[in-house]
Amino acid sequence: MRRKLAAGNWKMNGTLAALGEVDSLALAAQGAAEVLVCPPFPLIAPAAGRVPGVAIGGQTCHPETSGAFTGEVSAGMLADVGASYVILGHSERREMFDEHDDHIRARCRAAWQAGLKVILCIGETEAQRDAQNTLDILGGQMAGSIPDGATGHNLVVAYEPIWAIGTGRTATPDQIGEVHDFIRARLERRFGAGVGRSTRLLYGGSVKPGNAAEIFAVSNVDGALVGGASLKSADFILIIDALNAASD
Ligand code: PEP
Repeated sequence: MRRKLAAGNWKMNGTLAALGEVDSLALAAQGAAEVLVCPPFPLIAPAAGRVPGVAIGGQTCHPETSGAFTGEVSAGMLADVGASYVILGHSERREMFDEHDDHIRARCRAAWQAGLKVILCIGETEAQRDAQNTLDILGGQMAGSIPDGATGHNLVVAYEPIWAIGTGRTATPDQIGEVHDFIRARLERRFGAGVGRSTRLLYGGSVKPGNAAEIFAVSNVDGALVGGASLKSADFILIIDALNAASD
């Protein structure tokens, strides 16, 4: 019912030459799982449609459709050059670019209006986890940043514990399972059982070839949002293969 999704977040990495990494995903992208690469803005147009089965997405978008917003890119512009997804609310955007839940909610609405699917990121800091506030924090982020109108088609939620992003530390299967069960229950409560059960939930935070299978075996994990390990196709392919195996 929920097609698994392997999503790569290239962050601010990659040049035209790096598109060869996308080309290398061609075979892995023919499996059961959906494959998505989110490169920096300048690479979206040349990456889109380049490899059958590899969808392309942006890493943020502005809430307005156009205007005097120097340096920004609208959701419609992403869709126009071939993106089908956009990542919103990544912790690096929240922390470094001061994006708060209300900004993210507005971006999400704009993305949906442009026909993009949204990968909405939520996650707690280590201090919040240590203080046993994880579920409260995540519940607040979901309530604040997901607008009305979510469906299993237009929304994917990515649980990304901030302390696990780019650190080599990964949440344990128990920690991931607890959070993903919670996210699904919250989605069901707010949007109804149909939406709650059909929305895909990704885990993100130092997913590597060596830990992917264990993470994909956790219930309510429908795939991964992968940062560092998505930059090298050899690693990303192993993660996609693990997800394809978990889809059987
Ligand atoms: C991310 O940035 O979304 C991410 C999960 O990064 P990494 O896989 O490198 O931890």
